[in-house]
Amino acid sequence: MTLQAPKGTFDWLPPRSEVALAVREALTAPVRRAGYGYVETPVFEDTALFVRGVGESTDIVSKEMYTFTDKGGRSLTLRPEGTASVVRAVLQHGLHNGQLPVKLWYSGSQFRYERAQKGRYRHFWQVGAEALGAEDPALDAELIVMAADGYAGLGLTGVRLLLNTLGCRECRPAYRAALQDFLRALDLDEATRQRVEINPLRVLDDKRPEVQAQLAGAPLVVDHLCEACKTYHEEVRALLTASGVIYTDDPRLVRGLDYYTRTTFEFVHGGLGSQSAVGGGGRYDGLSEMLGGPVLPGVGWALGVDRTVLAMEAEGLLDREEAASRVQVYGVPLGEEARRRMFLLITELRRAGLDADMSFGGKGLKGAMKGADRSGAGYAVILGERDLAAGSAQVKDLASGDQTAVPLAEIVETLKERLRK
Ligand code: AMP
Repeated sequence: MTLQAPKGTFDWLPPRSEVALAVREALTAPVRRAGYGYVETPVFEDTALFVRGVGESTDIVSKEMYTFTDKGGRSLTLRPEGTASVVRAVLQHGLHNGQLPVKLWYSGSQFRYERAQKGRYRHFWQVGAEALGAEDPALDAELIVMAADGYAGLGLTGVRLLLNTLGCRECRPAYRAALQDFLRALDLDEATRQRVEINPLRVLDDKRPEVQAQLAGAPLVVDHLCEACKTYHEEVRALLTASGVIYTDDPRLVRGLDYYTRTTFEFVHGGLGSQSAVGGGGRYDGLSEMLGGPVLPGVGWALGVDRTVLAMEAEGLLDREEAASRVQVYGVPLGEEARRRMFLLITELRRAGLDADMSFGGKGLKGAMKGADRSGAGYAVILGERDLAAGSAQVKDLASGDQTAVPLAEIVETLKERLRK
């Protein structure tokens, strides 16, 4: 048997891979327009970064990391998410000493040892944006609006925004204690009991029906917010409403990462089954300090490219994207000399800015024309021996079937002209 890609991973192949690129472009276009700069961090980091920056009690750190020892004896981990690395890079290079907020975006592979299923992979692709160094509700709102605009830019209509606040270091401890009191009285298994002690908010996120059934009367953060958190959250909501972004308050929305404070949000899509989250994020005011840095409030999101493609598929938007032509012009050379001349012509067309391909492998007219049809090109340029002798080629409009002889020296200009229409 030939080798297969590892469990939980898959290959992006054309034309679907083109959709993935288009999704990356569309989701990051609003961010780039808003002046966020591109950051690229290593795919692996010191394991300690994620242990400290994501949190030991999270599933990500306790169960899902791809950790290995390198030949120098260092413990390294393939990144399971992007935020910790971005904050590490900001601190390491002192970006926070310049103009604030520092605004950055990234795009790339993430790795989590998860139970593989549709929409949940061990290697997946996220785009992310982070703004560090300002605690301003307008920044939280800006990020949420940009993500919503990104999805809308792809033509998606079924993405819903869930919004919550998790309080801050002033009000969260009292809420946490109240929640713990409530949870300790429930009938929970040992692992969940431990979670109650370490990260009680995460228990609210437990999807098991036997746990959910017991959570009906659980205290909610909204009822324990301090005045500052209330005002902050109201401002975020008002800005979203003013921007025309529709959201649903979800008082039970928590995030799997320890460092989130205040604003937290998730984008979900109804067509994805159990893995419904297409993106999420929030404010993480304590993260910098956890990594040994100064006080540096931050807010950001990560959007799943893979799941966004699935959402587009669920809405029937992929057919349109996939039908897009691969090239505009396709060369069909017949005979040895024609092939050589065609190679130059195609090179010339590409240099003139047209998308062009040609038939390779010495195919005859029939096979080469099949290639032209499959390429989605609007025009085929057919070059036979008689054409060569006459110093021209046949330009065939593949939609109408019309064919005209055009002097070789005028082909580039002719096609440029015709394709402009
Ligand atoms: P998170 O970093 O967990 O907040 O995830 C942000 C987004 O990344 C999610 O909303 C998903 O769209 C995507 N995502 C997270 N985990 C996976 C996974 N295992 N496979 C595919 N996409 C994922």
